[in-house]
Amino acid sequence: MKSANHATQEVSHTDLHAMAYTDPLTGLGNMYRLRDRVRQIAHERAEDPAPFTIGIANLDGFKPINDLFGPRAGDEILCQVAHRLKACVPDGATVTRHGGDEFAFALPLVFERKGAEKLGQMLREVLSAPFDLGDRNVRLSASFGFAIYPFAGEDFADLLESADTALYRSKRRGRGQITVYSQEIAEEMKRATHLEQALRNAIIAQEVDVHFQPIVDLCDGAVIGFEALARWSDADLGYVSPAVFVPLAEERGFIDTLSDTLLRRAAEAALSWPKELFLSFNLSSAQLMDPKTAFNTLAILNRVGLDPRRLELEITETAVMTDADTAQKVVAELRASGVRVSLDDFGTGQSSLGRLRDFSFDKVKIDRAFVSQITDDRASEHIVKAVVAMCEGLDLAVVAEGIEEYSQSLKLKALGCHMGQGYFYGRPADAAATLRFLAERSAGTHKQAIAR
Ligand code: C2E
Ligand code: MG
Ligand code: MG
Repeated sequence: MKSANHATQEVSHTDLHAMAYTDPLTGLGNMYRLRDRVRQIAHERAEDPAPFTIGIANLDGFKPINDLFGPRAGDEILCQVAHRLKACVPDGATVTRHGGDEFAFALPLVFERKGAEKLGQMLREVLSAPFDLGDRNVRLSASFGFAIYPFAGEDFADLLESADTALYRSKRRGRGQITVYSQEIAEEMKRATHLEQALRNAIIAQEVDVHFQPIVDLCDGAVIGFEALARWSDADLGYVSPAVFVPLAEERGFIDTLSDTLLRRAAEAALSWPKELFLSFNLSSAQLMDPKTAFNTLAILNRVGLDPRRLELEITETAVMTDADTAQKVVAELRASGVRVSLDDFGTGQSSLGRLRDFSFDKVKIDRAFVSQITDDRASEHIVKAVVAMCEGLDLAVVAEGIEEYSQSLKLKALGCHMGQGYFYGRPADAAATLRFLAERSAGTHKQAIAR
């Protein structure tokens, strides 16, 4: 009796131990299991420290699927992921799950970067096959981060942190990416974090400025509006392009704060311009996926006192593609209040003509890539010609971006393009210089009128 009792206790002790090391949903090991395994491999190789690898896989876009199909479908997917990973990791490898949609591996026989990348590609392939949920199939991709012992860390915590840094970099670069930790990657990540901190401070200190570039009527060169372009110079980092800091603010989740400040400043400046001039403002992709954007934008205009009919918002196809439903709602709400919407950088992204049909735009901006080639590349010329004709048929206005030479503006006019923008007509300039530019222009037209 006594010994039976003792046995039960023993079993329950083992059970407890197993439970503490097991992920209850998938039956895989958990982080403690990974830690012990890593320590064990390191210990086995103490004499002759041969490299080995750990990896982390994180599913892309798992949360929206969980939200859409419910947690039971989400659990089912996680179990199928666990099953697939276990079935295809090499011999001697351990697969664990660290909560959520994050899985990890200890890979005693992967010694260097190429091997890790190859394994990552294989696992990515395996996870890309559809997941069967009974009544439907779901597709997912996964991002990977790998770290090689001992270069990326000599103890478990450091090694895991390095794999995490590598994973974070993969996530930054889009879906389905694979990164193996290296010194350069660590430095790249450090720079991004440094930049992020400097940018956050600059926003608070109101050091991020907005400049304005004229958009003109190509027939007579008259200014019809200005595009607002963000400008930032940091004391240590120097000039940082908006093509760098806008995506960074998006990624680190403070694009709203940045964009609100910029829009407020731009709208305030536009108040001093003649009333018939419009303000064109770039909206980032992340903002177009946020249902609050229309309300926020209109609230800022209202506070500043700028008529929504004077605002144009430039959006890109990436935004429209990622979450078409939300983007469509945001755009519809803004247009209902009189704000116009342009499709920026047309021709460079994954342009789809269907998008022009299904989505309500007012204007298309032809990318500089075509304009800069227009006088010496027949293909560019034909593309611009076709875009202009198509927009005419669809009742869309067209602006050519990046006009640097007179000959380009002549060619564009000949092709039927009526609006343009570029260094030839004016470089982006700050609010005060823009006012001087307008004053000079109006004095010029006045003189011309008298001379006539
Ligand atoms: P974009 O909206 O396509 O802006 C046009 C870019 O072309 C600007 O670069 C402008 O300075 C440049 N550009 C204009 N004319 C010429 C020309 O004749 N020749 C050449 N070589 N370049 C010309 P910038 O200011 O560096 O901005 C880069 C991108 O950053 C913008 O491309 C836009 O996507 C983004 N961006 C800028 N400001 C903002 C902002 O306030 N919010 C958001 N979300 N994005 C912004
Ligand atoms: Mg633009
Ligand atoms: Mg553009």
